[in-house]
Amino acid sequence: MTLSRSTSTLVLNYFNRSIFNSLNSSKHNLHNSAQNSLTFKRFNSSVCWKCGKERKNSQVFCETCNAVQAPLEKDNYFKVFGLEENFDIDQQYLKNKFRKLQSMLHPDKFSNKTDEEQHISAEYSSLLNKAYSSLHTPLKRAEHLLNLRGEQIGEEQAVDDPAFLMEIMELNEEMESAGNDKEKLKALNTKNKMELERISKEVDECFRRNDIRAAKKTVIKLKYFSSLGSRINGVLRELGETD
Ligand SMILES: [Zn+2]
Repeated sequence: MTLSRSTSTLVLNYFNRSIFNSLNSSKHNLHNSAQNSLTFKRFNSSVCWKCGKERKNSQVFCETCNAVQAPLEKDNYFKVFGLEENFDIDQQYLKNKFRKLQSMLHPDKFSNKTDEEQHISAEYSSLLNKAYSSLHTPLKRAEHLLNLRGEQIGEEQAVDDPAFLMEIMELNEEMESAGNDKEKLKALNTKNKMELERISKEVDECFRRNDIRAAKKTVIKLKYFSSLGSRINGVLRELGETD
């Protein structure tokens, strides 16, 4: 079966609408968090804000005076955790590093410190949460990588791949016809997970060979399948099934 160009466009518009509607709420949240954004600005230098001695980005505390430092590259979540900028990351390393840094910055450890140090540690800690939640999820991690390369996925982004559109349409039909049938939904979920795994490998390869154009196209696919996965899991949860 082949799709005419106009049908492809219709299908695509339908999926874009449903996906981007569901993303609007998270966009709104992003906007809100930007308003309360981190105010590390005046601390962004290569010297300790307190004693003026030279410091390195990886150091949370100044080697000379032990004052807590703001991260130098707060916009690059990979660097916040000392990771290479790759899609495929060591999740266990990320988790351990996150916990270790959070414990170093725990408010209890700053109760006797100056207001300035309490302020920096609190902001650092909230940056860690933001960076972790972004790197932890494959889709958000891929989008962050695109952002770091000056790219983002727009609402009008087209997928010029009829085979992919057919697959999405079929999966969507399967989802509709499964209704509240738990077994069918679980089977569909398994199939979708396999697709997500395959696409994730593709995304990783695109970024590794620095083919940002291809990466962008593949991340859009990742977005479709992630969205389908969320919908399936949403119905399963309503039916009392946990993932
Ligand atoms: Zn210092």
